[in-house]
Amino acid sequence: MKKVAIIGGGYGGLRAIEHLVGNKNITISLFDENSYHYLQTEVYGYIAGRFDLHDVALDLKNWCHGFNSPVEFIQEKVTFINSSEQQIETQNGKYDYDYLIIATGARTNFFSFIDGLDKYGLGVKKLFRSHNFRTSFEELLYNKLEDPKIQGEKFNLAIGGAGLSGVEIAAEMANVIKKHAKSIGESAREIEIFLIDASDTILPGMSPYIIKETGKRLENLEVKVMTKAFIDKVDENKIYFKNGDSLDYTFMIFTGGILANTIDSDLEVETNRIGQYICDENLRLKDNIFTIGDCCQLTNKDGSLLPPTAQTAERSAEYIAKSVSDLILNEPIEPFVGKVDGVFVALGGHYAVGEMFKVIKVKGYLAYLLKKLVTKFYFIGLKLRLNTGFHKRTINEED
Ligand SMILES: Cc1cc2nc3c(=O)[nH]c(=O)nc-3n(C[C@H](O)[C@H](O)[C@H](O)COP(=O)(O)OP(=O)(O)OC[C@H]3O[C@@H](n4cnc5c(N)ncnc54)[C@H](O)[C@@H]3O)c2cc1C
Repeated sequence: MKKVAIIGGGYGGLRAIEHLVGNKNITISLFDENSYHYLQTEVYGYIAGRFDLHDVALDLKNWCHGFNSPVEFIQEKVTFINSSEQQIETQNGKYDYDYLIIATGARTNFFSFIDGLDKYGLGVKKLFRSHNFRTSFEELLYNKLEDPKIQGEKFNLAIGGAGLSGVEIAAEMANVIKKHAKSIGESAREIEIFLIDASDTILPGMSPYIIKETGKRLENLEVKVMTKAFIDKVDENKIYFKNGDSLDYTFMIFTGGILANTIDSDLEVETNRIGQYICDENLRLKDNIFTIGDCCQLTNKDGSLLPPTAQTAERSAEYIAKSVSDLILNEPIEPFVGKVDGVFVALGGHYAVGEMFKVIKVKGYLAYLLKKLVTKFYFIGLKLRLNTGFHKRTINEED
């Protein structure tokens, strides 16, 4: 029996397990510092109050128990990889492995060259940060209802970074405010949403169709889009731009960049400018150490960089699961071939914009339904596994 250890219970880690679990030659251990799988792709709905906690955080122990073959879950932060001893180290101990898959994802890059960003900017790549924003925002709305002193005060929600996550958050927040304007009352008119990016367009790198249709939708939702806007400094209530302008804000969410989560090790590894591991064509850092998802630099067929998405994390995970199984059988392994089948951008409520295989273009309710189908399918798969795991654990405890 070979021991396969996976670090990170995100999109990549879970997909790797699903594809490895039928293999009778291996045992699988999943390590994550958190007890839950965090559905980052749904977080725009959570912070806007459309989804609840149980929609975005699913218990990893129950999920791991949901398989017929055992998958061990160890809730510990991995602090060191000792590749010469084939061991990973946590605060509580050392664990042996034969094959290691690093799927540790990424965190928000609060650029150090923007003074004050780290202190005042809010991120969404960690659940506690999204939760803090949601509760603070709700509290502000509540206070506006209860406290006559702040009724009538205007406030701005600034979102720094108009990539996929920033755009989805801006659109969902704007849509919720618009949709509930009657109930929220005057406060709804007092909230303005600003979407800020240093590039000369929103969604830099995406297709002209997606950019154009997203721009139209944001305009309809009355989101104020600021492009070519270089943030220089942030203080407690103002964002200062390089051109001398400034913007008052009450909340600032920053989604302008990521930094890979890497782990100290005895390996000699290269990383790129955002800290992602640079692996070989088989996504290896060493013969038996692989890396997948946001924590590594992945390339397309044509050599261009793949964007860090759940889709790419899952595709690289499927590839690695096959490679590990082949290696155990002493079979040769093929290089990783990355590609993006399609992109869907959720744009508030029942509206999305999407493009598949570069030729099929959809927008509005149909695009929303297609995006929903993908996420629903993913969610139902997770839920079924959770249910099975939960019942198995309950029965075992009763015994
Ligand atoms: C608002 C938002 C919207 C998005 N929308 C989309 C979308 O529509 N479509 C899409 O494809 N992608 C989308 N993404 C991107 C997508 O969420 C990421 O690309 C995806 O989460 C990457 O998966 P991963 O498995 O590499 O890492 P993650 O999902 O980040 O998982 C990494 C895991 O590793 C664990 N971990 C990290 N370090 C350690 C350690 N040292 N020890 C133990 N555990 C550790 C973490 O706790 C975490 O559970 C969106 C992201 C955001 C923030």
